[in-house]
Amino acid sequence: MQNRRHFLRMSAIAAASLAVPSLLPACTSPKNKQSKSTMKLSWTPYDLQLNHTFTISGFSRKTTPVVLTKIEYDGLEGYGEASLPPYLGETQESVIEFLRKVDLSGFNPSRDIEEIMAYLDETADANTAAKAAIDIALHDLAGKIEGMPWYKIRGMDKYNVPDTTFTIGIDTDEVVREKTREALGRFNILKVKVGGPDDKRMIEAIRSETDLPLAVDANQGWKDRQQALDMIFWLKEQGIVMVEQPMPKGDLDNIARLTEESPLPIFADESIQRLADVERLKGVFSGINIKLMKCTGMLEAWKMRNFAYSLGMKVMIGCMTETSCAISAASQLYAGMDFADLDGALLIGNDCFDGAKLENGKIIPNDQPGIGVKPIQELAFGR
Ligand code: MG
Repeated sequence: MQNRRHFLRMSAIAAASLAVPSLLPACTSPKNKQSKSTMKLSWTPYDLQLNHTFTISGFSRKTTPVVLTKIEYDGLEGYGEASLPPYLGETQESVIEFLRKVDLSGFNPSRDIEEIMAYLDETADANTAAKAAIDIALHDLAGKIEGMPWYKIRGMDKYNVPDTTFTIGIDTDEVVREKTREALGRFNILKVKVGGPDDKRMIEAIRSETDLPLAVDANQGWKDRQQALDMIFWLKEQGIVMVEQPMPKGDLDNIARLTEESPLPIFADESIQRLADVERLKGVFSGINIKLMKCTGMLEAWKMRNFAYSLGMKVMIGCMTETSCAISAASQLYAGMDFADLDGALLIGNDCFDGAKLENGKIIPNDQPGIGVKPIQELAFGR
């Protein structure tokens, strides 16, 4: 309850202090107000097959479970997704259990997104990916009701976005070089997972193939501040441009000192989940990594972006391994951000949605309304 009150207070602060324009400025069409339709939520579990076994500091995996959602309303369909890498703590079973509790009858999809998300937070404390699956489907639906993609509703230029990184996991020199070659000509920046047994060797293996700028993500893998700082100075000489989550998520005093002394910007990932976490990270990190699956979706991601910028922090958008559904949702709101890591759908072999695409190293949404996705295979949505 304490968390809930804190969250509501933070939401109010963010909305008031930032003068966020009406959240859904365009979603007020008379045809929608007159509708007697009721939203119908359905879902289907789906397993993503990764192209390569993926190793980060801590563990390896070859698949990622997801739950896809659909909300039907007034002859339209909105799609959403919960991606569930094991470290997030949610499973297909826990997501479906949460979705079964949700009753969207009585809500209006375009007018009530803010209220619906507050209702979901009252329904359960955690389940952020399950909540994101509803938030994304609602945004898709609301955009379709208006006949506009969300980047247009937010008044953004869809091409004014940072290059997406392409992620290379901790691996043998041979595999690292192979993955680097795979990325050349398609991406303008790579992201290297470090915090393993021999980070310098990994970087040198990549540098034997390319001079592209690199981001590194230590996933909390460096335990000693001086060691982390020495590493960061070495990385800067190798053309690295930013560092994600260098040290354990709760070690904020050491991270704050590291950020102060670091020649590279330091971004929070594991240290941040939701809007309520942003303020305490000011002065600790240079910026934050916003992920839809951790922050409950597009509505809160948008508030986090605005609040972080108002605090003078940098902002990046990240993802899990996801289909083009959740990636397309993220692509609708990252114009103007500092960095992007939206390669999730490019790392899987069985993407079941058509949506935002890689163009000249950037993930660009299409001009279809909502989040701009459509299923490319039969999906067995049910309850
Ligand atoms: Mg990360």
